[in-house]
Amino acid sequence: MRSIRFMAAAVAALSVASAATAQTAGASSADRIRAHMSFLASDLLEGREAGTRGYDIAAQYAASQFAQLGLTPAGDAGTYFQKTPMTSFRPADEGRMVLRDAKGRETALAFGQDYMVASNPLKAELAVSAPLVFAGYGVVAPERGRDDYRGLDVKGKIVVVLDGAPRAFQSEERAYYRNNRTKRLEAEKRGAVGLITIYTPATEKMRPFAQSAKHWRNWNMTWRGPDGAPFVVAPNTPSLGTLSVEGAHKLFAGAKVPLERIYAAAATAEGVTPRFDLPASLSAQVRTELVESESRNVAALLEGADPTLKAETVVLSAHLDHEGVREDAKPGEDRIYNGALDNAGGVATTLEVARAFVESGQRPKRSVLFLLVTAEEKGLVGAEYFARNPGGVTAVANVNLDMPILTYDFTDVVAFGADRSTIGPAVRRAAARVGVALSGDPLPDEGLFTRSDHYRFVEVGVPSVFLMTGFQNGGEEKFTGFLKGCYHKVCDDLSQPIDYAAGAKFAKINYEIARELTDGAERPAWNKGDFFGGKFAR
Ligand SMILES: [Zn+2]
Repeated sequence: MRSIRFMAAAVAALSVASAATAQTAGASSADRIRAHMSFLASDLLEGREAGTRGYDIAAQYAASQFAQLGLTPAGDAGTYFQKTPMTSFRPADEGRMVLRDAKGRETALAFGQDYMVASNPLKAELAVSAPLVFAGYGVVAPERGRDDYRGLDVKGKIVVVLDGAPRAFQSEERAYYRNNRTKRLEAEKRGAVGLITIYTPATEKMRPFAQSAKHWRNWNMTWRGPDGAPFVVAPNTPSLGTLSVEGAHKLFAGAKVPLERIYAAAATAEGVTPRFDLPASLSAQVRTELVESESRNVAALLEGADPTLKAETVVLSAHLDHEGVREDAKPGEDRIYNGALDNAGGVATTLEVARAFVESGQRPKRSVLFLLVTAEEKGLVGAEYFARNPGGVTAVANVNLDMPILTYDFTDVVAFGADRSTIGPAVRRAAARVGVALSGDPLPDEGLFTRSDHYRFVEVGVPSVFLMTGFQNGGEEKFTGFLKGCYHKVCDDLSQPIDYAAGAKFAKINYEIARELTDGAERPAWNKGDFFGGKFAR
């Protein structure tokens, strides 16, 4: 059924295309990119925030485009929409943290000065009282022969860890190890009942505690599974809060190694510190405000032509949501986060790639899924929902587009993660066919490989890259200029000097990459011995 339906649609598309050529030139690829971006980034969509009507209109638009191309609905019950049930959560109040020393004397920590409270999507009321144990950075890295838990018994205790990870680690691996999820998983494996993160002087320099404390009531989001329960990594070892350098000093009062010495050791390249039981125990109370909501991913399938390979699906993703409207705008001020580059540009590119597949008249061998995800801006939530609830789809590779800088005629591209799997060489070949170079990661310290939707596929073992326009031909200035300028600001709108021909070129490259992956003899694979392949491949 599916394939017959697709073929009919493709033939129809081809004949329409040639009929149009006979009379008029029709819209060029650049025109179509402009048209998609003009709609998606218009004020009417009010910033496409997940869970709002503006987002739903954007989703309906994308579904309509996929339908016009004759692609197969790949969402729930024969639709293009995959419902994503979600829970928003934030601290309900300032919480409470009380230290009790060996003599039973109690000291209440000061909210906003000593600590910031966490929030917990699983429980509105959480109270934990337990002894404290310090575990350095909380890193367990067998590939480096490192275990910060060696010699410690943390069962039934609250684990205290330093924020961050040692600077000797490769940037993307460092990003993995400094992630709160990774740290809580390791603590949970060993039976800890909670996790406290403490600031280091380096953290304080990067993002001052007082500054972060201002945002303590920002909403977080996660998705809910079929049983209605919010998805949480390491549910038995919740985050209880974050301590400032000042708060950490109170925690370490009377400790067998003074905190200053810990900080000095932590600042070395390998960051190995003494680890030990702290003299005090802690009572923490965390109260959480919970709100259930719902959004949806948009998914369309082009089934592969090869009877065996069609079971393997290459996922092309881009996030459809953005930041909504500015609450603190004054009357008369622009209040809409249009998200033209972030990520109407990535969505427009994906729609254009879908069209290129259909108009090629040549079905791919493997299947291709065009996936527009929700709630990226809330923590890669829609992508995670799909990656962990893929229905019948077996994803074998993911190419993700997020915020391509389409304001100059780029001559190179960057694929974050290219060195980790066979997708890298495929990207190089594909880009070369369009006369564009593949460059190395120009911002290794940013750890960008772990910071967009493709990483949710990495976490379930799927080789992935995140494709971006490169730094050559003025790209560096455009990229860093955008980050300092309109990134996540209301001026990321259509008044920017967008080069729609560059958008068309970007779509062409993405089509060529997808072709490499769908039609290649070998299924995309992690490189032998790759760090992320080793951590997550199934
Ligand atoms: Zn963004």
